[in-house]
Amino acid sequence: MELACLDLEGVLVPEIWIKFAEKTGIEELKATTRDIPDYDVLMKQRLQILDQHKLGLREIQEVIAGLEPLEGAKDFVSWLRERFQVVILSDTFYEFAMPLMKQLGYPTLLCHKLAVEPSGRVTDYILRQPDPKRQSIKAFHGLNFRCIAAGDSYNDTTMLSEADAGILFHAPQNVINEFPQFPAVHTYEDLKAEFVKASLRDLSI
Ligand SMILES: [Mg+2]
Repeated sequence: MELACLDLEGVLVPEIWIKFAEKTGIEELKATTRDIPDYDVLMKQRLQILDQHKLGLREIQEVIAGLEPLEGAKDFVSWLRERFQVVILSDTFYEFAMPLMKQLGYPTLLCHKLAVEPSGRVTDYILRQPDPKRQSIKAFHGLNFRCIAAGDSYNDTTMLSEADAGILFHAPQNVINEFPQFPAVHTYEDLKAEFVKASLRDLSI
């Protein structure tokens, strides 16, 4: 019994905050953990900016609904779901991801959530647990699933290490260099081949 565990942003969909900043023209929303390493500080700043621009959940979801999964992502997910049970492990928020998940056919998504007032104002964010991607793989192992995982960045590497096989997809060169133990691929065709290789079953592409 094998699970395929995928990161979301950078693997199946664009970086949501970056795209959201581009769509709304709000430059300050382009800051990421590379600019502000403390995630709590970064998120508080993002929520404050949303407030300043009077962007509530409905406006945010409308903008995000205009985004599209990466080219080929939908077909890749369909291909994968015919061969594995697929779970997406992400550090995004359900409220942000749902318009994009609709376009991917609603695969299972484990991520975080936002605290939202009835007016739609976003007041806070609620992380499901610390190191959630890795903890998810541990839990799946406890359920006797073998896990093959793919992700693109630092926040995926504990998941890739914990999994029975880890694959870097669309990763920047510095991540590839720092984690040479993981195969690194850049196209969905190559990613399919890595999943086939990592599986204990006799799968075909
Ligand atoms: Mg990512």
